[in-house]
Amino acid sequence: MSATETAIASAEAHSAHNYHPLPVVVASAEGAWMTDVEGRRYLDLLAGYSALNFGHGNRRLIDAAKAQLERVTLTSRAFHHDRFADFCTELAALCGMEMVLPMNTGAEAVETAVKTARKWGYRVKGVPDGMAKIIVASDNFHGRTTTIISFSTDPEARADYGPYTPGFEIVPYGDLTALREAMTENTVAVLIEPIQGEAGVLVPPAGYLPGVRELTRERNVLFIADEIQSGLGRTGKTFALEHEDVVPDMYVLGKALGGGVVPVSAVVSSAEILGVFRPGEHGSTFGGNPLACAVALEVIAMLRTGEYQERAAELGDHLHRELGLLAGGGAVETVRGRGLWAGVDIAPALGTGRQISERLMEERVLVKDTHGSTIRIAPPLVISKEDLDWGLDRLRTVLSV
Ligand SMILES: *Cc1c(COP(=O)(O)O)cnc(C)c1O
Repeated sequence: MSATETAIASAEAHSAHNYHPLPVVVASAEGAWMTDVEGRRYLDLLAGYSALNFGHGNRRLIDAAKAQLERVTLTSRAFHHDRFADFCTELAALCGMEMVLPMNTGAEAVETAVKTARKWGYRVKGVPDGMAKIIVASDNFHGRTTTIISFSTDPEARADYGPYTPGFEIVPYGDLTALREAMTENTVAVLIEPIQGEAGVLVPPAGYLPGVRELTRERNVLFIADEIQSGLGRTGKTFALEHEDVVPDMYVLGKALGGGVVPVSAVVSSAEILGVFRPGEHGSTFGGNPLACAVALEVIAMLRTGEYQERAAELGDHLHRELGLLAGGGAVETVRGRGLWAGVDIAPALGTGRQISERLMEERVLVKDTHGSTIRIAPPLVISKEDLDWGLDRLRTVLSV
């Protein structure tokens, strides 16, 4: 057996089968490239679902992590540490907000946003105890906890995990009328992704996001933007909501905030909203740890320059122009997305998303399929134009057979 086959057989025998990875075993990576155990190089057009916006082994992030590893890595929030205040101050400033509540994974940050909205509903809005409702969108992806999958519309993500957490109302994504009709006195928040990533990079109709903002403001309801995947440069701006000049009440961040080095997530909001918490009411052993703060501070410093957002916008225009040309040829049905982020619906006759991903892997390009015949393209924002063009050439090859 090859090194690849041995590693895969062993993983299959000893790990739960909650994933179906492509048959490639990565041993090292740099920038937009990954190398497998047999020395083959692949172009990474997934970037860890946008956790790797700054590329693999980013020098600034690795150096920040190494320096912090030698000083102190964990204190718990029982004590202050000397990176915490800077992290919260800088992240709040990047978001144009006032306060930060750090967690680790995206799902934990979404859970935190849910708890914040409910507590705000009872303490500030005056919703009767136990009655708070949060409105979410169909085809959402907000994580994998029992509460979060309770309001998923994906049977795969949800089946056999009941009883489900009550208190959520699902309306069609992009439908303002449905949202308006779902709102009651007890609605405390609307939780949506400004662009739905896992659903296939779905961009809502123009005017939807400003409409959500207007409605939520009118009805004294919090607008929670899950920018875990869409945020931090991916779409060509720091936040996807900026494309429509919308400012939410709460950002939920994760993925790229940890630079692909450590899991870092956060809820970022106003002092009034995050001010609802008192000591002991919420927490996390690892949330806001010194190593996480050191890496995230470097991420924030890189985002402050605007250069990554600009790159994502420029290379994104190029990507969408090239994919648009492919869409004329019959192999590609639809291309959606914004910035360096695209969902590509392949003509079903050419194969499933999985089959296309496998053929691309043989061409040394790594992508991930999502529902049916859709593949997602989200390279690290540091990818060179030449490498991106090389990847697009491979895509053309695979789609022309
Ligand atoms: C990935 C993702 C999450 C969950 O993040 P985890 O770190 O996997 O828990 C939540 N919301 C969105 C939009 C995501 O893309």
